[in-house]
Amino acid sequence: MHKNSKEILNTDKICAFLSKAPLNIALHVGDNEKNVLENRKKILKEWGVELENLAWLNQVHGSEIKNAKKGGFLGDGDGIILDKSGILGMVMVADCNPILLYSSKMLALLHGGRVSLQKGIIYKAIEILRKSCEAEEISCYIGPSIRGCCYEVGEEVIDKELEIGKIYKDGKIHLDLIAVIKAQLKQCNINKITISQICTHCKGEEFFSYRLSKNCGRFGLFAMLK
Ligand SMILES: [Zn+2]
Repeated sequence: MHKNSKEILNTDKICAFLSKAPLNIALHVGDNEKNVLENRKKILKEWGVELENLAWLNQVHGSEIKNAKKGGFLGDGDGIILDKSGILGMVMVADCNPILLYSSKMLALLHGGRVSLQKGIIYKAIEILRKSCEAEEISCYIGPSIRGCCYEVGEEVIDKELEIGKIYKDGKIHLDLIAVIKAQLKQCNINKITISQICTHCKGEEFFSYRLSKNCGRFGLFAMLK
């Protein structure tokens, strides 16, 4: 059914899906604008959503979260809050973690790269969601991303927040950001967590991996309140 996307969640309240390679959905990676908009349209068509109802960001590896009251460009930020039905949020990734936090009333889509996680984007998003529900009502989905197997880093990037994800592989330091995210979620009492098993770097053909190819496109995590 869905040639260009992969269903993650489809209840009476919420739908969420991933787009896949080779369709690039990002305007900031040197692709032709017309191509990108065509790609976005192709993906949205599978879900019956118009392009004008798509909300997206200029992602800057920060922790700012924007509330999307309508579709369109939201400016700089790395998180989108959706509390109105019919607006489809999108975060673009290639190795960074696409994260969805959701209750039945509100969604948060996050571009969860190392720096945004260090800056506390998960804590900020949960604080917003918690205004309308209890922690037990919040679930989390983490999509395909680079995993500890492939994410080598320099010692200098490991701070207190990342320490729990520090692992050694062949004498090198690797970072397991899934462990970091899980620890942050646990601290906020979020226990309903679903994690994609896919490492984008190991499985570069189905999604995109920045560490495999610096000129790659981006795939997306999309979510909407119905
Ligand atoms: Zn890997």
